Amino acid sequence: MNTKITTILTLSDFNLQFAQLNDDRFFEKIPSEDYRRLIYESQKCGKLVAEDVINKFPTATLDEIVSKLGIELVFSEMTVDKNFTSVGYFESPNKIVVNSTLKEKDYFFEEIGLSWFNYDFWKEIVIAHELFHFFQEKNTNTFIDQYKISLWHLGPYQNKTKLLSLGEIAAMSFAKKLLALDFYPGFLELLIIYPYFPDEVGRKLDEILSRDRNKMIEQLFND
Ligand SMILES: [Zn+2]
Repeated sequence: MNTKITTILTLSDFNLQFAQLNDDRFFEKIPSEDYRRLIYESQKCGKLVAEDVINKFPTATLDEIVSKLGIELVFSEMTVDKNFTSVGYFESPNKIVVNSTLKEKDYFFEEIGLSWFNYDFWKEIVIAHELFHFFQEKNTNTFIDQYKISLWHLGPYQNKTKLLSLGEIAAMSFAKKLLALDFYPGFLELLIIYPYFPDEVGRKLDEILSRDRNKMIEQLFND
C-alpha cells in the first residue's frame, strides 16, 4: 500500500482544489481574501458545464458524448520524460489525445492494492478533463477566464493575467460530476506517472500533503 497515493485520493475536494490554486505560477500575487471565492467559483463553473452535458446527453457514455460533439479521440504512445510527461491534452479545435504508453504501469497500482486505478479507469477522467477544456475554449465569458490579477502597472497601464489553475479546478470538478466519481481527481496527472518517477513525484506529493495548508484552510473557514 502506498500511503502517499491513497492519502491524496482521500483528501477533500477543497483541500485538493486549494493545492491546485497553490500550484498556480502566480499564486503569490493572488489576494488571500480571494482564495475561497476563486475555488468556489471555479468548481461551480465545472459542475454547471457538467450538468449541462448530462442534461443534453442523459443516456450517452463519455465516448458517445465525445463523438456526438465531433471531437476526435486519439490514443497515442507518447514519450515519458522526467521533466515533462503529458497524460493527455486537448488540441484546438476538436481533438483529445490520451497518452496510452502509461497503460504499461497498471501492474504497479495492482501491486499496491489499487487495481481499480488502472488505465481503463483513469483515461475516462483524462478525457472528461480535456472535454472541459473544449467547452472552455468555446465560452471564455465565464469566471475562470474573466478573473484576472494585476502583475504590475506603469501609470495607467496594467499588466494583467488570468490564472490557469482556475481552469484546472473547473476541469477536475467537471470530470468528477460528469463521471459521478466518489473522489476529487486533483493531481491525477502526478499519480499516473508516480511509478516512473517515484522519488520526484513522491517529493511533489509530500509537498502537497505537508504544506501548511491545514492552517490556511482553518483561516479560510474561520474568518
Ligand atoms: Zn487541464
